Amino acid sequence: MKNLILIAPPAAGKGTLSMKLTSKLGYICLSAGDLLRNISYSNEILDNLMKAGKLIDDEIVFEVVKDAILKLDGKPYILDGFPRTLKQARLYQEFLRENNLPLGLIIYLDIPKEILEKRVSSRIICPNCKAIYSTFDSKFFPKKMGICDHCHHELVKRSDDNIETFDKRYDEYNKNTKPLLDYYRNLGEVFVLTTVDVDDMYSRTLSLLGVD
Ligand code: AMP
Repeated sequence: MKNLILIAPPAAGKGTLSMKLTSKLGYICLSAGDLLRNISYSNEILDNLMKAGKLIDDEIVFEVVKDAILKLDGKPYILDGFPRTLKQARLYQEFLRENNLPLGLIIYLDIPKEILEKRVSSRIICPNCKAIYSTFDSKFFPKKMGICDHCHHELVKRSDDNIETFDKRYDEYNKNTKPLLDYYRNLGEVFVLTTVDVDDMYSRTLSLLGVD
């Protein structure tokens, strides 16, 4: 199974798509945001940067993601939210070259800003199993309000899921992450998905992977 890199603005559906692929195909999802959030509970500087929607230092993120990849022992993975800058993409390419690993598939989720804003203001997550729900879109309502369907943990709002922080994260994305599309187009193909329906996004991804 090919490794996947998902490039997308905040709240485009990277997390939800990854979860579906993980349960169906046995991928391991490496979400840079989740890996960093796990460390941020005991690191105030990191916590404050993330709360403000600022990008974390490239070398730090790369080390965290690289360690997580090496622990997988060759299992297929999805990179969700990494790389997010050209520097991270170059560090990752160097890592792949050194370890003789293929790049895999690059998928770009191209979702309009108005939809992202709506999603951010209504998103609630499970801090335990990372499942994602919505208080607005009935397709993503938890069965019992405020409780995770999967692990029954209490659901929370992410501290960076507010419109003000979203605007900063969206600007960061346009400035730092969007240029990755050209970087990867120079290395090979970037597959673009424009659908806002996550089931459709999922079935299109399965087709790209050659899975029915
Ligand atoms: P996410 O969960 O992907 O929305 O990421 C949440 C926050 O984690 C971002 O706003 C950044 O502060 C930080 N972060 C996640 N991934 C990266 C990355 N690849 N590079 C730098 N900062 C990141």
